[in-house]
Amino acid sequence: MIETDPSATAALAPPGTTSMAGELAEAVVDHGAIAANVRTLRATAGTRLMAVVKADAFGHGAVPVARTCLSAGASWLGVTRVGEALELRRAGITAPVLAWLFEPSRAEEAVTADVDLSVSSPGDLAAVARATGRPRLHLKLDTGLHRSGCPGEDWAGLVSAAAALESAGRVRVVGLWSHLSHGGEPDAVATHRQLLMFRVGVDLARAAGLRPEVVHLANTAAVQANSRPTAYDLVRVGAGIYGIGDGLSPALTLRTRVVQVRRVATGRGVGYDHVGRTTRDTHLALVPLGYADGLPRAATGRASVWVGGRRASLIGRVCMDQVVVDVGPEPVPVGAEVLVLGAGDRGEPTARDWARWAGTNEHEIYTGIGARVERRHVGFAAGIQRPRVGMEER
Ligand SMILES: *Cc1c(COP(=O)(O)O)cnc(C)c1O
Repeated sequence: MIETDPSATAALAPPGTTSMAGELAEAVVDHGAIAANVRTLRATAGTRLMAVVKADAFGHGAVPVARTCLSAGASWLGVTRVGEALELRRAGITAPVLAWLFEPSRAEEAVTADVDLSVSSPGDLAAVARATGRPRLHLKLDTGLHRSGCPGEDWAGLVSAAAALESAGRVRVVGLWSHLSHGGEPDAVATHRQLLMFRVGVDLARAAGLRPEVVHLANTAAVQANSRPTAYDLVRVGAGIYGIGDGLSPALTLRTRVVQVRRVATGRGVGYDHVGRTTRDTHLALVPLGYADGLPRAATGRASVWVGGRRASLIGRVCMDQVVVDVGPEPVPVGAEVLVLGAGDRGEPTARDWARWAGTNEHEIYTGIGARVERRHVGFAAGIQRPRVGMEER
């Protein structure tokens, strides 16, 4: 027995949305939660806050999230690539923006758009200094993460080259920075080592004549660990803005609707390779989201969703575009709301649950939510600037 109702999904589509994907699923982003998280983190850090909106604000939507963060007290924005920084500038955002994985060929564009660039090597420095104008630079020291940044033995050379270029009016060194390997562990030996090395690095830069506006080190985990020695002038906060971390509010709800329901006898294989098998006479609900939309295939056999007022397990493999949910002997109606992930306050799974099921972290769950899932921005409190187009208020 199969029920289909093509109108079942229509109610989800926000006004003005015409795409098929928009009708099938949406990620609702609560800007009230984002603003509250920014305020909390800023108060905890006791210093200025850079809102890290890389990777499309962890999948939440870079431009609207950046606006909300700035309205809520962030004073800087951080992204990985120059292209991401330019997207913010094109939207009319004028706050300082730092891009830290910079493509030398795009330095000119970045400088023209008044985007700050991170520099980790004499080669980067020379490439940026060739750009017209007076590039704003943040020199990055590798204090022990061993991922990016200038190795300690090359730092003195980098700061003196930068100081010479600054004296010649070619660049401005506005920042000195590094990144922690164990941000959440202020007492770890690794953290003490990094702090010590960073202090020495900052001293060396000052001795070379540099006078940066901001020295910055901490991420969300360091702020949450209340690690005052890491706070310096500015904290770079990504995860916490989106509610990753204790005492913060998840902002994103991924929701859709049941598009088909069928009755299936016990003992039947379900989906590719019949990885799932019914263990009772039951109803199977088809949910139109799959791994292309961010539901990790690795969660197969473990995940559940909230559907029609209760939690029900997925059965069979997570497919590219859809999953099957075993709702039990009591059917749910076609068109029933499905909460795939959210803050958890209605009984739906959280990003943390999905991360556990898939053996990953919440960051990967959020950034994995596919482009065809429509983002809908809601919850703009008084004083929070709303995105301009195609967005509605709750
Ligand atoms: C992503 C990132 C951050 C933000 O870290 P969170 O743990 O998400 O707060 C800060 N600095 C750098 C260099 C990053 O890549």
